[in-house]
Amino acid sequence: MAARHDRATDPGLQEELLQARRGTAFFARKLNELTDAELDGGSLLPGWTRRHVVAHVGYNARAIARLVEWAATGVETPMYPSVAVRDHEIDFGATLPPIALRNLFDHSAVHLSVEWRDLPDRDWANEVKTIQGRTVPASETVWMRTREVWIHAVDLGNGAAFADIPEAVLERLLRDITGAWHARGTDAGLIIRVSGTDLVFGDTGAQDTRLGDPVTVSGPLASVAAWAAGRTTRAGGAGITATRGKDALSEVPVAPKWI
Ligand code: ZN
Repeated sequence: MAARHDRATDPGLQEELLQARRGTAFFARKLNELTDAELDGGSLLPGWTRRHVVAHVGYNARAIARLVEWAATGVETPMYPSVAVRDHEIDFGATLPPIALRNLFDHSAVHLSVEWRDLPDRDWANEVKTIQGRTVPASETVWMRTREVWIHAVDLGNGAAFADIPEAVLERLLRDITGAWHARGTDAGLIIRVSGTDLVFGDTGAQDTRLGDPVTVSGPLASVAAWAAGRTTRAGGAGITATRGKDALSEVPVAPKWI
């Protein structure tokens, strides 16, 4: 029988589930503020209308739910058969009538929430595989969804900004992005500082060991997170500055590719 409350008892995991559900509620609010006609408008993502964003976020919930089901049953069910299938699904979803598109978002979000709710403590460490081929514990699905809903709510381009995203989510996002750069070696000589805090990300070793001057990008947490995620102009990249060594740069460099 299905539980009415989350079966997970770990307080950290419960907090993460809360962030994911808050993000989902935030995305739902921004989506509900859009008229059907406005869904045809452009998003912050190049080449994607708002319809593409909604379709992607809906199918993403289904894909993540498949991972949670995998963790629960031990039966391997990948997020998507392939990247091509995923992309095709988004293009198809973007053509759905507005009511169907909205239902896709709502139903998939509820379904995922129920899959999480019913996953017992013993199964959260079970390993599943992401579309990038990473093997992760089922608990990682919560973060995977959290960053999707918060960032894509901004991508809808109807007023949400990175400043609306909780600080804990922004910090983890920066760790994620700079970690991905590091794994690819694209962060060489690049340091990211969050002003007003002692948070430093990126190629922190460059501060003393590297020959030549590192580039340091600094600004408020929400702004540097938006910049690092490749979204600055309309998503709120205000207050970011860049220096090379001791010299101020007239332009903030484009962040390395993230995904
Ligand atoms: Zn996405």
